[in-house]
Amino acid sequence: MKQVISMRIRAHDLPEGATGLFEATGCKLRVTDIEDFTVLNVHQVIVWLKFDAEDPLVMKVREYLKKHGVEPWGGEYTEYSDEDRQNARLLWMRPANDVEICAGFNYGTEYDLTNACPNCHAGAKQTSVLYVDNDEIATIRKHRAVQAWTREVLVDGGMRKKLVDAGITGISFGDVRARHENGKWSMVARDQILIEHSMPPMRGELSAKDEEYLCKVCRRGGRMSSPDKPYREEDLVGMKDFNLTWEWFGEFWAEDKEKRRSEKAPESKRPRHAQSHEHIPRRWREITRLDAGGHRAMKPRQHNLQSTRAIR
Ligand SMILES: [Zn+2]
Repeated sequence: MKQVISMRIRAHDLPEGATGLFEATGCKLRVTDIEDFTVLNVHQVIVWLKFDAEDPLVMKVREYLKKHGVEPWGGEYTEYSDEDRQNARLLWMRPANDVEICAGFNYGTEYDLTNACPNCHAGAKQTSVLYVDNDEIATIRKHRAVQAWTREVLVDGGMRKKLVDAGITGISFGDVRARHENGKWSMVARDQILIEHSMPPMRGELSAKDEEYLCKVCRRGGRMSSPDKPYREEDLVGMKDFNLTWEWFGEFWAEDKEKRRSEKAPESKRPRHAQSHEHIPRRWREITRLDAGGHRAMKPRQHNLQSTRAIR
């Protein structure tokens, strides 16, 4: 594990461009990418650099940029080695970082709310196969594993076989169906990973931002970033290879925010019948959970967004 500094520099704003930057500072060896393109007849060169946090070149580059009035973009982060990952007791996993599909309640997936929070519906238990938006099929096919905006995880046959052959504990698999615009459905050649065990609540103080994203009723949510030491040894008792977090890290819409969002939407675009998916604009479906057909709006499984895997 080491601290790394990433820098994005608009080299076309420098008097001698990227070449001048490299010659003056000797940072060419730190280049990870150079983007060279033209937008609206303006030639742009973006240089990406990566340094170890203690690298003396960082200061040199910053001074050079300051001299020429160019502000770099970037920041410091922790970079983990393969060895770090193998030795970690827990990993926070996402199937594909930049892809999220639409699935869940709006497409006909059913949930038991008996033990769910009446406000945010954390604790809702999925009781049917998972339905996904048929518009997502092309995206799903591109990935061996993909996750939904509502955090269900889908894997292809090869990935499923790997998990089964490895004897991974704490999971079972469920069918996936695509919901079409006309209300019909078809099978999807993917399995949903169903994860049974939830970790206890994370330890550590909540930040002011976390408080904003906590459910006012059940206090789940928050944790917009993972605390340093979220669990103690005793918290790991009963842990499986795949586990759910008690919280979530992602996009919880506090009730007032949800309301503000819905108020912004034109009346005519609001869905009135659960069955009439075709009346729900795609974008709207992506970002909201709105009351539909007499059902309460819900955020199924929002509390257990992340799966974690214990390394044995
Ligand atoms: Zn709640």
